[in-house]
Amino acid sequence: MAQKKYVYFYGVSKELTEGDTSMKAILGGKGANLAEMANANLPVPPGITISTEACAYYSKTGGKYPPEMEKQLKVQLKKLEDNMGKKLGDPADPLLVSVRSGAAVSMPGMMDTVLNLGLTDTSVLGFIEQCGNARTGWDCYRRFIDMFGDVVMGPYTGLTHHDFEVELESIKKKYKAQEDTDLTAEQLKELVDIYKKVYQNKVKKPFPQDPMEQLDLSIRAVFGSWNSERAEKYRQINKINGLLGTAVNLCSMVFGNMGKESGTGVAFTRDGGTGHSMPMGEYLIDAQGEDVVAGIRTPKHLDDMPNEDSKVWAKAYADLQKIMARLEKHYKYPQDVEFTVQEGKLFMLQTRNAKRTGLAGVRWAVEMATGKDFFTGENQPKILTQKEALMTLSGEDLEQLLFPIFDIEAEKKAQLITSGLPAGPGAAVGMITFEAHEAEAEVKKHPRAKVVLVRHETSPEDVGGMWAAQGVLTSTGGMTSHAAVVARGWGKCCICGAGDLKIDYKKKTVTVGEKVYKAGDWISLNGSTGKVYEGQIPTQVSPVVSAVVDNNAAAKKDPIYKMYAEVSKWSDANRTINVRTNADTPKDSTAARAFGAEGIGLCRTEHMFFEGDRIWAIREFILADDEKSRKAALAKLLKHQQKDFEGIFKAMDGLPVTVRLLDPPLHEFVPHARKDQQEMAKRLGVPLKKVTERVQSLHEFNPMLGHRGCRLSITYPELCVMQTKAIIGAACKVARLKKPIKVLPEIMIPLIGTKAELDFLEKIVRKEAEAIIAKATVKVSYMVGTMIEIPRAALTADEIADTAEFFSFGTNDLTQMTFGYSRDDIGSFLPDYLNEKILPSDPFQHLDQTGVGQLVKMGVRLGRETRPNLKCGICGEHGGDPESVKFCVKAGLDYVSCSPYRVPIARLAAAQAAIKG
Ligand code: PEP
Ligand code: MG
Repeated sequence: MAQKKYVYFYGVSKELTEGDTSMKAILGGKGANLAEMANANLPVPPGITISTEACAYYSKTGGKYPPEMEKQLKVQLKKLEDNMGKKLGDPADPLLVSVRSGAAVSMPGMMDTVLNLGLTDTSVLGFIEQCGNARTGWDCYRRFIDMFGDVVMGPYTGLTHHDFEVELESIKKKYKAQEDTDLTAEQLKELVDIYKKVYQNKVKKPFPQDPMEQLDLSIRAVFGSWNSERAEKYRQINKINGLLGTAVNLCSMVFGNMGKESGTGVAFTRDGGTGHSMPMGEYLIDAQGEDVVAGIRTPKHLDDMPNEDSKVWAKAYADLQKIMARLEKHYKYPQDVEFTVQEGKLFMLQTRNAKRTGLAGVRWAVEMATGKDFFTGENQPKILTQKEALMTLSGEDLEQLLFPIFDIEAEKKAQLITSGLPAGPGAAVGMITFEAHEAEAEVKKHPRAKVVLVRHETSPEDVGGMWAAQGVLTSTGGMTSHAAVVARGWGKCCICGAGDLKIDYKKKTVTVGEKVYKAGDWISLNGSTGKVYEGQIPTQVSPVVSAVVDNNAAAKKDPIYKMYAEVSKWSDANRTINVRTNADTPKDSTAARAFGAEGIGLCRTEHMFFEGDRIWAIREFILADDEKSRKAALAKLLKHQQKDFEGIFKAMDGLPVTVRLLDPPLHEFVPHARKDQQEMAKRLGVPLKKVTERVQSLHEFNPMLGHRGCRLSITYPELCVMQTKAIIGAACKVARLKKPIKVLPEIMIPLIGTKAELDFLEKIVRKEAEAIIAKATVKVSYMVGTMIEIPRAALTADEIADTAEFFSFGTNDLTQMTFGYSRDDIGSFLPDYLNEKILPSDPFQHLDQTGVGQLVKMGVRLGRETRPNLKCGICGEHGGDPESVKFCVKAGLDYVSCSPYRVPIARLAAAQAAIKG
């Protein structure tokens, strides 16, 4: 039987390269892309990738390599050595490699890199001999000891980068060196000895002198880091599930620390914040990998590269630009690259799809499909079809275009504290918090709390707090720092490198000039300009919202709105199902319509009962002792309800409107505080005792399973009569207007579990509706249908469809009742379920396709067996969740219905599902 392959080779030539970008699941993103670049003949230093499957085996067996792996590694290592003409550990001319992690999905900063592996006390001399640069040799060795100590041995011994950093600072002081590059070869050699002692002190063993041992320990460290707390947290926050593990890349080293014609950097093929087609990046001369992001030296802006003294830089810059343009075209996505220049020659060390804001993503998609820059009018390469462009976008991208921005006038008047780099878009207002864990705890305790995380810089351990914060502000770091990359990926407001901030973590203060701000003080960040302000600046809606909802003419000229409109148009051209909205007021209905809603999928009538004096009428109904008094109370509600429906029908002007009969238990309409009960008694002219007794009698142990939904109208048919009168009355009225409005009311009966329940109410509804229509002498058609939100309804959907003309899946209740999780109390145990991976995500947010989804599919299938043209939709919260929308398309629903601001997202998701097929 053929051996399972765990170790792959890339580089040198297309023939020798064993992978490509399609193999991300096995080679990880980095390994697959290195192979892909090697296939395209780009200058990639050759290397080896150990697969994610080996990592999965390692995790499963508690630290064992697959039996075939070591043999395969030896063979591939030999191939690498032969091609490089160097041998690992050779005292005369050693091959050096970097060890780099890389899962199928990029997880910035989650797993670390070790450079210069293969250096030992003897091989460093051979290396120096070969490269002819003693300074480079000792610099590489000290970096290797530092990274190996921190990344490989740190997790077991507590050794950290900081332990080495202290020694570097002290030797710099000793020799009065400004930068690390000012240290001489001799001084670096001295530092190597000091580092080895630091290592031995903590690890209790000398620094390993066998390169194969170095390699083995490093591979184990990368595999081990897959299950580290911070990697798990990142995966949890970013909902990354189902990956095998990380691959390990052993990349032959190229050296950016070989003097003034060498360097290293990172670059984005375009601006990841705005999407502008201007490559941006940072680099450092005479430096190695981590220096650029570590903030030890301040990196230079990519634009400065062609102006460096040595001519080699202009050439390297031009080569890099060409390669970046090629990569964008090849991957059909903006790229984020790492490069090194060794003595004037450019090498590509990595490429991956860039993390970018929603705005940048939409701009990329629209411009690459139209060949036009929406901001400058300039030409752009046209490399995507409209369908491809839509597939590069996510619901969150569109959502970010709907982000609040500061009120322009208020921002002008606000007190500017300082400014930094505009690393993540939008506006954020919050209270200063210095510790990530405090930010996280505060928001956990008070979910509405608004905090801004203020730090020197962030690290992967801070991701929980960064996520919880409204925005992130750092005093150091550039556009490619950890804070910038992570926040941008989330579309979170972030300002980096605000160097005027003097942060004192101990005192919990941040000082700018004379001014001192304490933890808890309010600040406002404009992540699009990098400006930091005192206090709370009011925010204003995005240009898209302004154009769509307020019909603002100026906003309609905004390129952001124009791009949004383009994406929406393409979405509509591709999708196969309708998108409706959940709305219960004319205002929300109008907004939803402007966002593209094609009807109302759920109008929750109970929301109308709380407005103004209406609550008193429903309370009177609740207190009434007989049918006559109940009818009298409902009569007061009727005129209000009818008016509401008239408004909604007008707003939807000809589009279908599904109105649901009263659903919540009656106890939701009565006061529970003594004071309020007294007021109720007084206002309705009844003794207090009557109120307290009625409130008590409405108490239920499981109100969600109690007297609610259709059960209310079965007990009090007059309720159903009143609501039918209001709906059909309103429909007839608007149909009779001078400029008649076409109406398509769909009366929906909630919480049906049996056909008999539906039959009972359907008769009442039809009788009442027919009588009104007959009297009104106007032709109004209407439908009567039901929600499918109790599992029994889905299981008996064939019977129910005999009566119901439509089904609307209420997946909130259907999830509640299928899992048996209270939708109101899941918060008490959900975090444990997510932590322990008992649930992949919150089932009330993302539809449980394997369980609840089966009931939806079954409901549709059985229902249509009885009534082939049965209209089916979904109106639970899942109707606005992109993955759930895609499921609904596959399940054959006619429409999804979601809140107004999620309509554009649902339109996109529906189009993506149709394109994917
Ligand atoms: C549902 O249960 O999914 C639904 C839409 O109804 P509600 O959330 O009002 O119970
Ligand atoms: Mg419900």
